[in-house]
Amino acid sequence: MSENKTPNTRVKIGVLAVQGAFAEHRKSLEDLGVETFEIRQRRDLEQDFDGLILPGGESTVQGKLLHDLGLFEPLRERIESGFPTFGTCAGLILLAEELSNDSHTYFATTPVTVERNAYGRQLGSFYTEENFEGIGKIPMTFIRAPLIKDAGKEVQILAKVNEQIVAVQYKNQLAISFHPELNSDLSVHKYFVENIVQVHAAKTYKKGDYTPKHSSFLRQSSVLAAQAKLSA
Ligand code: GLN
Repeated sequence: MSENKTPNTRVKIGVLAVQGAFAEHRKSLEDLGVETFEIRQRRDLEQDFDGLILPGGESTVQGKLLHDLGLFEPLRERIESGFPTFGTCAGLILLAEELSNDSHTYFATTPVTVERNAYGRQLGSFYTEENFEGIGKIPMTFIRAPLIKDAGKEVQILAKVNEQIVAVQYKNQLAISFHPELNSDLSVHKYFVENIVQVHAAKTYKKGDYTPKHSSFLRQSSVLAAQAKLSA
């Protein structure tokens, strides 16, 4: 490496970019200081990266393109084996183990039952502010949004709107009904990076051989804290 080149020391997140609001997610992450790239074809998965975003859009179109592009199986395997993944809206539909009003499922790695277009046509899109576990009150924009009707025992419920579940975490997977990438509030992306991506990096490099790359997002102390928690 030449002297004046900055080494790649930032956390790097791949954003699925076959359809939908991928550009907005990249902007949110980059505003946080996270490096991003677009996943459009199988070759894009060959590089080293730390987390995955499944953006909102149209889940049926995304599902079809994932298969056509040969991305479906490699991504499913990654998610299932614990890779940090954040699905918003259509991304939540792709992650859901069951869809109450559709016979199709996609990755089916998050044990939740989801209803597509749950707010009907009239209330298709709306904005509200509600509490998100560990963050506080945040803006939430819903666009023809799916709802989480049921969640398995190990699923952590992170937010509700009108008694209905709109955000969950299951191990490495964060799945939400709304669109944090459409607001300037970066707290849900930050939650993903700090609580899932960083914790995964800390776990992966627990043996003491982790590189600075994995500890450089925002502050090294959060990785060290995660490592301490994991080895306690
Ligand atoms: N209604 C869309 C679907 O079923 C999801 C909407 C969204 O991602 N904003 O895939």
